[in-house]
Amino acid sequence: MRKKVIAGNWKMNKLLNEAEDFVTDVKGDVPSFDQVETVVVAPFTHLHPLVQKAAGSDVKIGAQNMYHEDSGAFTGEVSPEMLKDIGVDYVVLGHSERRELFAETDESVNKKVHASFKHNLTPIVCVGESDEQREADQASEVVEAQVKKALEGLTNEQVQDVIIAYEPIWAIGTGKTATAEDANAMCAHIRNVVKSYANEEAANRLRVQYGGSVKPANVEELLGQSDIDGALVGGASLKADSFLQLVEAGK
Ligand code: 13P
Repeated sequence: MRKKVIAGNWKMNKLLNEAEDFVTDVKGDVPSFDQVETVVVAPFTHLHPLVQKAAGSDVKIGAQNMYHEDSGAFTGEVSPEMLKDIGVDYVVLGHSERRELFAETDESVNKKVHASFKHNLTPIVCVGESDEQREADQASEVVEAQVKKALEGLTNEQVQDVIIAYEPIWAIGTGKTATAEDANAMCAHIRNVVKSYANEEAANRLRVQYGGSVKPANVEELLGQSDIDGALVGGASLKADSFLQLVEAGK
């Protein structure tokens, strides 16, 4: 049995006091970490205060991006070492908004995945096809290529600790969700892709989340599928009450 991971990706939302209030509101009510992994993925400026707010609770904090180098002349970037230093545990890598708007590539995502393991951060690696690719029947191959490149060069021990988030771009922020069956089929495909070059045990341990218009009304059906091990949630993670409903469903 793979433990479910429910991660709220706030994207570029919330001021610090709102972020702190959110963690204060939810931290006593989330299920224990043994039951479900609850992750708040916040903007950089909020990470350190949120780690402090969440200390001793079952809420973990994640970053939305990072650079792959430890330190150096990289103006404007944040390193994995800096994230680890302040108590961040997870990092979202290769989100489609970063690929589309900030020119992230499969190659840069792969470097970041390696860097996350170097510093003991759990990577949440985002993959997913666009509407055009889906219409052209290319979804499976697009996702397969993204997964293969992102995980290139990892050991089996590392592969088993990866979280992949399957987020079809057409479902992000649109209210359109993939049907639970379609989402499950793609998550199963992702696991099979991993099995083709990592050992079976590692591929079976790796977790695959679904993301794209997940909300309290559809989360149970999605999480009830055989190969969906959690959710990466944008809009519905911004309010404490709906976020709590999502993590409850992950138990
Ligand atoms: P929505 O849940 O708002 O569709 O966003 C999904 C997402 O991009 C999470 O990373």
